[in-house]
Amino acid sequence: MATLSGHAQHRQASGGSATPGSSAQAVPKPPVLTTQHPLVAGPAPLPLPAPIAIQRRVIVLDPAHGGSDAGAQISDTTAEKDVTLALAFRLRAMLAARGFTVVMTRDSDAPGGGGLTLDDRAGVANHAHAAACLVLHAGSSGDGVHLYRSDLDAVSAEPTVPPWLTAQAAWIPQSRLLQREIASALARSGIPLVIGAVSVRPMDSLTCPALIVELAPADEDADSINQTGYQQRVARAIAGALLVWESRVQAPPQLSVAASTITTLATQSGRTALHP
Ligand SMILES: [Zn+2]
Repeated sequence: MATLSGHAQHRQASGGSATPGSSAQAVPKPPVLTTQHPLVAGPAPLPLPAPIAIQRRVIVLDPAHGGSDAGAQISDTTAEKDVTLALAFRLRAMLAARGFTVVMTRDSDAPGGGGLTLDDRAGVANHAHAAACLVLHAGSSGDGVHLYRSDLDAVSAEPTVPPWLTAQAAWIPQSRLLQREIASALARSGIPLVIGAVSVRPMDSLTCPALIVELAPADEDADSINQTGYQQRVARAIAGALLVWESRVQAPPQLSVAASTITTLATQSGRTALHP
């Protein structure tokens, strides 16, 4: 599965080779405002990401664990990996009924589907340009749904490929809004709720609004986590929230700053860096 793990090197490749003009030089030519300008390009062309076009009708579901990674033991007979997959199937059906296309990082417990690395999962998710990515977990303690966004500090989107391990940082404001939307829907459905922030992979590498949805038992009854009615209530509330979210999601103003950044660099003399 493709990853962006090599992009950190691209970030280091932006050092310019040009030197400041000296008084002995002729009148300098006006700057050429392209990425090929020597002040900008440096030794290697600097790749700029394609403009973000969010696929508003696409949702990514990542049922955590799978294969030899069973996750938490929810009860004597229930492993977390099975709960996350079951909830994902329910969500997929409800979202499909509402006109969404659902991308799942795995749809079976086979080794091929369950042996994904966290980077694999983030790679699948990030290629979808989805309106939302939900990482599904389950636990035996607590009550209801635990809804986490990334705990990374929000940063402004930069006109370059973001660092892989903190790519979610540019999306924090959107993830916060998505968290509010889904939390409201769960509360209206009478489902107990814990809201928080946690910094974990693969969520921190996701380049879309992203949350962890951790299903806990209802009424502190561990077996309830497998009950169809309970899972359906949770899935229906989330699917309804995503239907509202579809018209609200926005990409960070990522590339709108690219041109002005290049202009600034081209009119400077000396070192260049797209990350001042
Ligand atoms: Zn888990």
